[in-house]
Amino acid sequence: MNIKINDESFAYDVFGLVQAFYPGTKPKMFIDKEADASEETVAIFISEDRITLTIDGGSFHSVSIDPKDRADTKNRLKRLIYETLSDRTKKTLPWGTLTGIRPTKIPYKKLYENKTKEEIFSFMEDTYLCTPEKIRLAYAIARREKEAVGDTKDRYALYIGIPFCPSICLYCSFSSYPYGVYKDRVEAYLDALIKEIRFVGDHFHDRILDTVYIGGGTPTSLSAEELERLLGAVDAHLDLSRLREYTVEAGRPDSVTEEKLKVLLKHGVNRISINPQTMQDKTLKKIGRFHSTEDIRKAYGVARALSDADIKKGGRGFLINMDLIVGLPGENKEDIRDTLEQVKAMEPDNLTVHSLAIKRSSRLHEMLTEYEDELFLNSNEIMDMVYGYADSMGMQPYYLYRQKQISGNMENVGFAPDKKECLYNMEIMEELLDIVAIGAGSDCKKVEKYADGQTDLRRKVERCENVKDVDAYIERIDEMIERKKTLFKTET
Ligand code: SF4
Repeated sequence: MNIKINDESFAYDVFGLVQAFYPGTKPKMFIDKEADASEETVAIFISEDRITLTIDGGSFHSVSIDPKDRADTKNRLKRLIYETLSDRTKKTLPWGTLTGIRPTKIPYKKLYENKTKEEIFSFMEDTYLCTPEKIRLAYAIARREKEAVGDTKDRYALYIGIPFCPSICLYCSFSSYPYGVYKDRVEAYLDALIKEIRFVGDHFHDRILDTVYIGGGTPTSLSAEELERLLGAVDAHLDLSRLREYTVEAGRPDSVTEEKLKVLLKHGVNRISINPQTMQDKTLKKIGRFHSTEDIRKAYGVARALSDADIKKGGRGFLINMDLIVGLPGENKEDIRDTLEQVKAMEPDNLTVHSLAIKRSSRLHEMLTEYEDELFLNSNEIMDMVYGYADSMGMQPYYLYRQKQISGNMENVGFAPDKKECLYNMEIMEELLDIVAIGAGSDCKKVEKYADGQTDLRRKVERCENVKDVDAYIERIDEMIERKKTLFKTET
């Protein structure tokens, strides 16, 4: 399906919605002043007071607009496209016209405006045509986020990126580098990172560090000594006295050792992620992971035993999260059910379920023709099964986001029992406080606030990024720090 539109400013939203009706395809987009109709094309013409949509050069639909109200014009445009394509394809989309990454922001904002549950439900149904199930889900998550995160006044979160992994997964779209190949640059990378940590300690000394999240990549790709150096620098330069959560992604089981986990516990880390993605050995090979399901069970067992021992000694131990992906090549519903059964048997504290997203920068995208027939589309039926398993593990959804090209147009969801949620995930998803992000490819966010310190829900978020390339990051570390000084308007 092609798209023609005469107003480029709506092109992004239109593209996402049209593509959601035709999963696995990439519509061609033309910005065309006339937006004249032709075969296999959605042609959209926005005039002073009306939107007209012609499909396949024939059938014609139209709606009136107030051009001064851009938000309403966008909603009307998306509803017009939705109704036309739903009629043509005989499909409905669970999230209706919503194409953004953070659908829970809508009920979250409405809760702060003191809207009732009924008002929020009808707003989401009438404006975005979401199904009642998705509205219930978004509403429940927004309420939980509001309660769990609480007051963020004077607080900030710190993200530390370690862009190394044992090997690169088939679907990976992050800037991650194989640790073995980059081993000789790790020390220099840590030098640069510690320079940024020192900067953060100096320049945010009058703010409260709320959460630390070390992600990547796979931070536990680093050796125990390298982890000790990094976490020691965090202790030395940052005030952790009011820290509510300290997470390290130990994502790849083949990177986890008892020695490294002891380093994490010693430095107060209280949440880790051990991410199987699947408990099917045939799939692990296919996605480029050089470990088995047995390795996953072993890594989890070591982490759980150390955590239990730490709690016995009066420590906090670890909350252990496990990530899964639905829609991996060659898998079917029974594989996913079996994976969920095996994960349930291990009893993690949190579960995060992603719907596979085929990103342009991944190897999977390059090799799409090879895997096309093996890709399993996520669906309501699968997500119902996932929600059912999480519930039987005593966990409810606590954060959610969507991605472009996401399998079945579904969502990624984090599950946790009450009081065991990952605060950082909720903070970043709702953009509730400044996120200071350091390391190659990381992305800082400065969140504008009301004068009284409360987060402005119509907030402006300004960003600055670090370069992605490891060598460039090391060489240009002073420039990365300058970018942060400018964003957070610090003087020295
Ligand atoms: S573990 Fe994550 S970051 Fe590392 S290669 Fe796989 S998908 Fe990419």
